[in-house]
Amino acid sequence: MPDDLLDYGWLIAIFAIALILGPLFALRPTSNRRGEVPMPEDWKARLAKLPHAACIDDAQRLRWHADVETFWQHVTIAGCQGFWVNADVRLTIAGYACLLCVKAPPGRPYPRLRTVLVYPQPFLVPQTEPDEYGLVPDDPVEQIGESWSGERVIVSWADVEAALMGDAVNVLVHEFAHQLDDESADASGAPPWREAERWAKVMQAEYDRLLRHRRPKVLDAYGKESPEEFFGVVIEAYFQRGAELAQHHPELYALLSDTFGLSTQRVTWRTEVLVAP
Ligand SMILES: [Zn+2]
Repeated sequence: MPDDLLDYGWLIAIFAIALILGPLFALRPTSNRRGEVPMPEDWKARLAKLPHAACIDDAQRLRWHADVETFWQHVTIAGCQGFWVNADVRLTIAGYACLLCVKAPPGRPYPRLRTVLVYPQPFLVPQTEPDEYGLVPDDPVEQIGESWSGERVIVSWADVEAALMGDAVNVLVHEFAHQLDDESADASGAPPWREAERWAKVMQAEYDRLLRHRRPKVLDAYGKESPEEFFGVVIEAYFQRGAELAQHHPELYALLSDTFGLSTQRVTWRTEVLVAP
């Protein structure tokens, strides 16, 4: 066979392989399906870099690691609008979801949760609730996160990054608090394993106090919406403004510390973006 024909043969072979394999890569979804993606070898070291990783003790860390592994296997984390879900995105979401569970009774964290959707930025959602005139507005509303009872969490990655850098809003813990709340049929604004009497007493007193305040100092006024949103707002303050919460709401901080087991008064915030949205 002449040399130049041999060269062409190689080119044709490479072209044929590209033709066969190309679509496989092109069709690869921007998600890590349940159980399909192995955890990176250094996943524990990457988790340790999360701002709140140092807020738990060694025994809780063992539980946290076990829960993160389970979460990784059972929950699909998918990117929307072209957002690529890499290992750090997946570990951040699993890490924060499971930090809320280090004092939960043993068992799979979020047993009904199937999917977490990640948008690069805040996303638009059509309105379904009627306004004060009984009309459903045409304009969509911008959201940074949503929790669908027991099955789905949706977050804006730009807002997750802001939380990692110390913003007062932490959309991950807010939405996963809603998931925990939905696990018990009788609760409104509480994790299933709460110490019921104490929880109700302290939370009710703090909720009433927030309702009275026109410009609350530590807790976001959005908590006035309902006991469920108050729980979400309180969890955000516990994670993002622990020292101020302990100073201005000592009983509330003590309740949250006893229920969730984290010492959040000192947190080392990230100074650089983890994954650009
Ligand atoms: Zn909420």
